[in-house]
Amino acid sequence: MSESPWEIVIGLEVHVQLRTRTKVFASAPWGFGEEPNEQVDPVVLGLPGTLPVVNRVAVEQAILFGLVVEATIPERCAWDRKNYFYPDNPKNYQLTQKDFPVTLGGQVEIELPGPSRNVMGEHKMIRLHHAHLEEDVGKLSHSGSGSLVDYNRAGVPLLEIVTEPDLRSAAEAAAFLNALVTMLTQAGVADCDMEKGQLRCDANVSVRRRGDTQLGTRTETKNLNSISGVRDCIQYEAARQIRELEEGRKITQETRGWNAVNARGYVLRDKEDAHDYRYFPDPDIPTLKIARATVERLQKLVPERPFHRQRRYMEKLGLPYTVTSVLIADKALADWFEAAAAAYPQNPSGIANWVANDLLRDLSAATSAPDAFSEPSVAKVSLVDCRIKPAQLAGLVKITDEGVISKQQAKEVFAEMFRTGQDAGEIVNAKGLRQNSDAGELEKIIQEVIADPAVAKSIAEYRAGNEKAINALKGPIMKRTQGKANPAMIDQLLRKHLG
Ligand code: ADP
Ligand code: MG
Repeated sequence: MSESPWEIVIGLEVHVQLRTRTKVFASAPWGFGEEPNEQVDPVVLGLPGTLPVVNRVAVEQAILFGLVVEATIPERCAWDRKNYFYPDNPKNYQLTQKDFPVTLGGQVEIELPGPSRNVMGEHKMIRLHHAHLEEDVGKLSHSGSGSLVDYNRAGVPLLEIVTEPDLRSAAEAAAFLNALVTMLTQAGVADCDMEKGQLRCDANVSVRRRGDTQLGTRTETKNLNSISGVRDCIQYEAARQIRELEEGRKITQETRGWNAVNARGYVLRDKEDAHDYRYFPDPDIPTLKIARATVERLQKLVPERPFHRQRRYMEKLGLPYTVTSVLIADKALADWFEAAAAAYPQNPSGIANWVANDLLRDLSAATSAPDAFSEPSVAKVSLVDCRIKPAQLAGLVKITDEGVISKQQAKEVFAEMFRTGQDAGEIVNAKGLRQNSDAGELEKIIQEVIADPAVAKSIAEYRAGNEKAINALKGPIMKRTQGKANPAMIDQLLRKHLG
C-alpha cells in the first residue's frame, strides 16, 4: 500500500460539562432527565434585575483540568458576551471567555492503535491551545405545530478545550478523545457521559499535499456527540475534500453538520467570524483573579497521569503491556491493584492478572451490564461493592506461590472469596483444599500408579525418549489425590521413579 499523497490535519474543540452541583452563574441545580424547564431560576432565564454570580467550583474544576494537562494558569480570567439572537438563549448572548481564558496551552499524551492488542502503539503529544469556561444553552425541539424550548441545559457549566491542529487522522482524534475522557474522569473534573450529551465536539478538518507547510482551508463540523461520530465524520470530510481538490475545485471554509444515521456531512452555513458575534467584555462579572494558593491547593488533587502510571507498572513492576492497559483505564481499579501489590510485593504480575482478568470479569457480571450506547473507554465496575479486599487477594496469591494450594484450587478459592468476602486461609480450611505436598504419601501413590499395567506402554515410551509420555501418568495420580497434589512435586517424583 503506497502512502496517500494527502495529509489530513485536524483540530478539535471539545465541550465538556464540568462536574458541579449547580449552574455556572446561578444556584439552580442541573441534572439529566428532569421535566423541561424544571432546572431554571430567574438568572438562568435572564429576567430583568438578575445578575450572574460565578460558580467557584466550576472555575476550580477548570483550573484542575489545566493542571492535569500541564497548562499555564494565568493570573486572571474574564468573561465576554457572545451576542446572537436565537430562542435557545434567553439573554440573547452567551457568556464565554474570548480573550482571557482560564487555561493556556497544555498537552495530552495519546496512544495510537498498535499492530495488535498485545503490543503498545506509538505515543504522541497533542498540544492544546487553551480551555475556556462558558455556559451551555437551551434545547429546542421542533414539531409540526411549532417549536418548544427547554432551558434546563441553559447555564450548565461547559469547559471548551481547543487543540492545536496537531491531529493527523481519524484514529488520532479518537485516541485523543479517549485519553482526554480518561484524564477528565480520573481527576473528577467531568463525567463525560456522552449518552447524556456531556461531551460534544467540533471537528476542524483540512487536507494538504504531503510536504506542504501551509495549512489547507478547513471546514468545521459542529456538535459531534460520540467518539465514533468524530471518527466517521473526519474520514468522510477528509475524503470529500481530497475528492474536491483532485477534481480541481476549491474548499469553501464553511460550518457543517453531521448526520450519524446515514453517516454523511452537510453544509450548515458559511463560516461565521468572531466579529459577527460582536463580542465584548461582560460588564456584570468582574475579572477574576486566580490566587496562587488556590492553584497550589488544586495541584495536590492532580492524579498520576494514566500513561505515567502505565510506564511505572511496566518498568518498575515488570507488568505486561496488555494488563497495564486494562488497569490504567480505571483509576479505582489501578488503586485497588496497588493496594493489593503493596500487601504482597513479591508478585505484582500475579496480582495484576487476577485483578485485570478474574476480578474485572466477576465484577462486570455482578453489576448491571454496560449499556449499549456507552463507549468502551471507561470500564463500568463498582469496586465499592466488591467483597474481596486488596489484602485478601494478596493473601490468595501468596499461598498459591507458596504451593499451599494449586492454581486450579486458587480459582475455586477466588470464586468463594468473591461471593463471601472470606480470607483465603478460611476458605482453604473449610473446603479442605490444602494441596498435598507430603512427599511420602505422594510417593506411595506414584508407586502404585506406576505398577498399574494400564500405564506400562506410556512408561516404555517415556523411557525410550518421548518426554511427553510422562503426562499420561499424571492424570491418574491427580485423580487419586482428588486434585490436591502439587503438580511440580508430582513431576519431580515421577521422573525420579522412572529413572
Ligand atoms: P476559530 O476562531 O474560527 O474557532 P481557531 O483558530 O480558534 O478558529 O481554531 C479553531 C480550531 O480549528 C482549533 O482546534 C485549531 O487547531 C483548528 N484549526 C485551525 N486551522 C485549521 C486548519 N487549517 N485545519 C485543521 N484545523 C484547523
Ligand atoms: Mg471555533
